[in-house]
Amino acid sequence: MRNLVIVLGDQLDAESAAFDGFDPARDAVWMAEARGESTCVWSHRARIALFLSAMRHFRDRLRASGATVIYTELDAPGNSGSLGEELRKALVSLRPRKAVVVQPGEWRVREDIRRAAAGAGTPLEERPDRHFICPPGDFAEHAASRRQLRMEFFYRQMRRRLGILMEDGQPAGGAWNLDSENRRSFGRSGPGEVPPPASFPPDELTRQVISLVKREFPGHPGSLEHFDWPVTPEQARQALEHFVEHRLALFGPYQDAMWSGEPFLYHSRLSSSLNLKLLSPLTAVRAAERAWREGRVSLPSAEGFIRQIIGWREYVRGVYWLLMPGYLERNALGATLDLPPFYWTGETEAECLRQTVLQTLEYGYAHHIQRLMVTGLFALLYGVAPRKVHEWYLAVYVDAVEWVELPNTLGMSQYADGGVMASKPYCASGRYIDRMSDYCRSCRYDPSRSSGPGACPFTVLYREFLLRNRRALEGNPRMTMQLRNAGRWTKEEQMLIFREAERVRLELGG
Ligand code: FAD
Ligand code: SF4
Repeated sequence: MRNLVIVLGDQLDAESAAFDGFDPARDAVWMAEARGESTCVWSHRARIALFLSAMRHFRDRLRASGATVIYTELDAPGNSGSLGEELRKALVSLRPRKAVVVQPGEWRVREDIRRAAAGAGTPLEERPDRHFICPPGDFAEHAASRRQLRMEFFYRQMRRRLGILMEDGQPAGGAWNLDSENRRSFGRSGPGEVPPPASFPPDELTRQVISLVKREFPGHPGSLEHFDWPVTPEQARQALEHFVEHRLALFGPYQDAMWSGEPFLYHSRLSSSLNLKLLSPLTAVRAAERAWREGRVSLPSAEGFIRQIIGWREYVRGVYWLLMPGYLERNALGATLDLPPFYWTGETEAECLRQTVLQTLEYGYAHHIQRLMVTGLFALLYGVAPRKVHEWYLAVYVDAVEWVELPNTLGMSQYADGGVMASKPYCASGRYIDRMSDYCRSCRYDPSRSSGPGACPFTVLYREFLLRNRRALEGNPRMTMQLRNAGRWTKEEQMLIFREAERVRLELGG
């Protein structure tokens, strides 16, 4: 054998650099389902099923195209459950001249693969991941040329480089970022009829995988009842087309809004397809740009969607590779507490948290503002250790892969990187949630109350957060307003705030 081409569970792209020069007569593909990848951190059962089903579909497609695929299923006899160990065994027995892999998305996995190849004495060729638009080296150069990293400047570079939403070298519509037009709530009347997203009921192969996951991971969180995620590139493409046709138009204005019983609203649900590499980010953004140029959607909707993909998504990957492995250990605000148990059950009287967690367990999905301004905000205000928050987010979403999850959780949501991802902590009282959703209407707490039994836990903890972190945040000009209010509280008021916060921690901490 000449080359053994390693394909990981989130590298399901037949156009990737792994297949450059692939010769079916002399090369083979290696894939393995490793239990350790679903248990080294806890994993939602829909997430496990999605990875395994998409991998098996990819395997069958490669085989149909004439490639030899050496594939170890999860329950195959002798499967050690460790990706690195399975690879080492394969390299020792197959003795290829070389192993080839596209740069893995996760630091730990890259180390495992390097170790396995070294252990087997096989040369390893690591090829760039062309799925991403900005290679880690380019991002490092971008970072080196700036005193402070900010997504906005990176995003402008990407727009110019790709010529997306550009007119005569200037941003279409005269502004780079139309975020101020992306923050509408639904008001009292609610969203009305929301068009349902494209749905892909499980085929025979996926049904087999679902049975396997039920059997092998009985204690894991999350439901498999609603599993309808795209598992092939064709389905991912259909999901994109459906989104652009039916939902993109209202994605922009209502990007930050939340509503009871509406888990998806106008969001695309494309993150898992993008992260598994079933869908290319350029295909997605070009489709949105086309819809705008053809007058089917407004500029704020197209720009809002495109910014998430060539802006935030590429940016967080850059931050991940720039700052790993030390990034994982960051804890700028010194938070140490455990995650309250309701994160795994949804059993809480705080309606916003109850609905977001239950929806997460049901579907393996919550949209960005639910992640950032409900579950993330609560963990930040409560003072949960960032590493524990990270482990939860990595476990519960079908789109969770570390390179995107970690900077979003540790950096954007928990401010544990001290301001690399976000210029200030995303901290707010319950009034933000009240403004952006209808959750507070059916909640037993009151978002405007900061003390007493009916006080909203967010509002109580927000005040204590400001007091507790005053020192760490006082040099931040974007926190001046919030801290100025906190500076006016008398000693007695401060004592009451700390007492109330302790009460809330006891009440919600289980
Ligand atoms: P849409 O709202 O339709 O957005 C379109 C696309 O833009 C998404 O599919 C996604 O690929 C991209 N995108 C949007 N926001 C971000 C962002 N902040 N960072 C990177 N890409 C973005 N996203 C993941 O893909 N995997 C994760 O594990 C993950 N963990 C997160 C953890 C926290 C605490 C937070 C605050 C955000 C996290 N995100 C993660 C980002 C974002 O919430 C999800 O990408 C989005 O909710 C997925 O739903 P969607 O496909 O309907 O996205
Ligand atoms: Fe959430 Fe507070 Fe509103 Fe209840 S009152 S839904 S806890 S923000």
